[in-house]
Amino acid sequence: MNPTSAASWRNRADNIEFEGRCLIDGKLLDARSGQTFDCVSPVDGRVLTKIAEGDESDINKAVAAARAAFQDRRWAGLSPVFRKRTLQAFGALIRLHRDELALLETLDMGKPITASRSVDVEAVANCFDWYAEAIDKLYEQIAPTAESDLALITREPLGVVGAIVPWNFPMLTTAWKVAPALATGNSVVLKPAEQSTLTAIRLGQLALEAGIPEGVFNVVPGYGRTAGKALACHMDVDGIFFTGSTATGRLLMEYAAKTNLKKVCLELGGKSPNIILASYGDIEKAAVTAAESMFNNQGEVCIAPSRLIVERSIHKQVVEIVAEIARQRQPADPLDPATRIGALVNAQHADRVMGFIARAKTGGAMLVAGGTRALTETGGSYVVPTVFDNVSNHMEIARNEVFGPVLSVIPVSGVDEAVAVANDSPYGLGAGVWTDRLSEAHKISRQLRAGVVYVNCYNDCDITTPFGGYKQSGNGRDKSLYALDEYTELKTTWIRL
Ligand code: NAD
Repeated sequence: MNPTSAASWRNRADNIEFEGRCLIDGKLLDARSGQTFDCVSPVDGRVLTKIAEGDESDINKAVAAARAAFQDRRWAGLSPVFRKRTLQAFGALIRLHRDELALLETLDMGKPITASRSVDVEAVANCFDWYAEAIDKLYEQIAPTAESDLALITREPLGVVGAIVPWNFPMLTTAWKVAPALATGNSVVLKPAEQSTLTAIRLGQLALEAGIPEGVFNVVPGYGRTAGKALACHMDVDGIFFTGSTATGRLLMEYAAKTNLKKVCLELGGKSPNIILASYGDIEKAAVTAAESMFNNQGEVCIAPSRLIVERSIHKQVVEIVAEIARQRQPADPLDPATRIGALVNAQHADRVMGFIARAKTGGAMLVAGGTRALTETGGSYVVPTVFDNVSNHMEIARNEVFGPVLSVIPVSGVDEAVAVANDSPYGLGAGVWTDRLSEAHKISRQLRAGVVYVNCYNDCDITTPFGGYKQSGNGRDKSLYALDEYTELKTTWIRL
């Protein structure tokens, strides 16, 4: 089968097998209640399969399995080099199943197949490889005490880790949590988003095949308000690692406060500013990158540069370029390898995005491209890339996360106003600045309250650097060696010699 044409992907899609059951203690199980919900593809509105609707009783079973696995040390007690080899085998299996995983992801949440296959699956495999490679090279410490004592500072796994992830990068957000959690010896219960469950269960199956022992990596599908809440409230879960909306993050902190004060690590929403200064030498490159970064993954990206802050002297030129890119990037069949913009995750989300667009129009922003749905005849949920000009930073479209392909251009009079507008947001995930002046780049980067600042680029990243937000964009860091801090406790052992 040649997976390089739309026809061959469609053929594969017609024959692929879906698994929608819970994976608990190494076994595929229906939800204890027997309840299921439909897994609907945003590509064409088709029901792909039924998903087990896990709830509190399934979460209890999965947490008990994870705790038993942690207690008997079947994974935590293995040498780091053994965990390394097993996680490497997992990474290799992910690559071996590249086409299958990519297709499941695209059918489930609508992103273009080329992105799923070449970007997401590759990054997921690489994430497991990277933490596998790291884990047998980390040394621990001895404190500088008097000669009469020996004080060891060692790292231990937290124990049972609960991971709750969203639907925009279902596999990748899972990998960013599960890879460092497993590398450090924890047991995991994963609650995928109800909109995108398929790859989570498949990853769980591949982990077993790679040799990760039963009970160490469990997957319980279900809704946030039931399964997610039960996991976050569970008295025997040691930490909740979450990627999702700021509203849900707030609830998770409340749940922890009311239960066992478990650690809560949050990667939340964003409304990231991207500043183009007139002094930058290649305005076209800056504008093209701004638009492409915004429309990437249909705009369903937490760090999307949705507020484009531009000096007035170049504002007209920038708007023409970003509007032209928006017009060129029409949504198309996600199963066609040439497609760059696919479907939004579901019809309700497309309605939500259209609501933001309608209110921005009546609220005084100027629509210069897009603003409509597309491909309605397919039954899928497609929204055309949209650009608003003359947005003011107090408008709803500049303050709230749309999580769709909608770019707002905010004209400003100079650097100071640009930085002030950039920081005037409850969020602080990403930020961009385009300037040829080295010292200006450093100065502005220091002033921007964001976890990641891009200079003369946007969205460039790999696994080596931490990712997370300031302010209401969260409190933890995914990726890099710093993520290992999140999944471990520091222990002091003081020995009188
Ligand atoms: P969401 O918060 O609605 O859902 C995320 C997950 O939380 C899902 O698995 C959901 O079932 C679960 N959930 C919902 N309510 C819950 C509750 N009461 N208790 C426990 N779990 C609950 O977010 P979403 O709409 O699925 O995802 C989009 C959001 O994710 C956006 O805000 C986006 O910015 C954010 N996001 C952030 C990052 C980051 O790294 N900062 C990355 C990707 C997405």
